[in-house]
Amino acid sequence: MKSPMISSDTLALDLSALVGFGTNSLNRLSEKRDDAAFIASLRHAQTARTFLIARDMPLVRVTSGTVPQPLFTFAAAKDIGIARETVLLGQSADGPVFAVLLDPESIEASAPTEGQPTLFCVPGRTDVAVRDLRSLATEALLSHDLVGQLGQAKSILHWHAKHRFCSACGTPSLPAQAGWRRDCPACGTSHFPRTDPVVIMLATHGDRCLLGRQPRFPAGMYSALAGFLEPGETMEAAVRREILEESGIRIGKVTYLASQPWPFPASLMMGCHAEALTTDITVDDVELEDARWFSRAEARAMLQGTHADGLSAPKPVAIAHHILKAWVEQG
Ligand SMILES: [Zn+2]
Repeated sequence: MKSPMISSDTLALDLSALVGFGTNSLNRLSEKRDDAAFIASLRHAQTARTFLIARDMPLVRVTSGTVPQPLFTFAAAKDIGIARETVLLGQSADGPVFAVLLDPESIEASAPTEGQPTLFCVPGRTDVAVRDLRSLATEALLSHDLVGQLGQAKSILHWHAKHRFCSACGTPSLPAQAGWRRDCPACGTSHFPRTDPVVIMLATHGDRCLLGRQPRFPAGMYSALAGFLEPGETMEAAVRREILEESGIRIGKVTYLASQPWPFPASLMMGCHAEALTTDITVDDVELEDARWFSRAEARAMLQGTHADGLSAPKPVAIAHHILKAWVEQG
């Protein structure tokens, strides 16, 4: 039940929880990560389960033929491949949950189908499939919570895979703190997992909003503009800079709305509304194929898939969908 005295902060939390990868009920036990004996006891608990990731892709059990199952026992994991890294994600209501990075050789490319992206499989195993996390999130067969946990698993294991050497001296580093730090045995530097902030924002002017499309988007899809924050920049400054660079529009007030962990590979999307001060668009054709103003009615039709010209907005897995919807519903 929602409290009738709901604050604006709580509403923002609610919106973040609606986005893909935005719900994760695990208790991360961050204060326990230095307790090696405790972590080992969790690892050996009967109820311990682990996500498996190889080459940035989750493995799922498909024996039941219905809903894929992304959690494995450690015994089952051992039969599939060699663990390169093991991270404690946290404690669920059912037991401790880990993430294991499997050796890349644990999976191999299936026979290619012309015109299709490369698919991977576990050699000799028909009961385990290798899936792309974006597809798993979009097809919505898994619970919102499991998708959020898989996002956590993918991002932290990607960091381990890409940070095997100390960036200060080049020596191979070693995992510490249940997988949430890497230490250099030569120079003593500690390295922590990264999250890269991205601003994603809907510029509006009266009853119109600014949407753009990148060449890689599905045909007819328009979305909110977005870009990485740079060192030394506030979120508000990044919103104003990105919109100016990509569309030539000048922005006044910026309002934070909601955020989304985006595990491709390890970003935090910070969703904002931005009030446009100007309306003349100059499209940056390096970043965008098109950018234009849409009326609120058009934006509503794009969200609902009923736009007369077949134009569309991102699906609910993306925070852009919710930023646009929040504005549409204000009108
Ligand atoms: Zn070092």
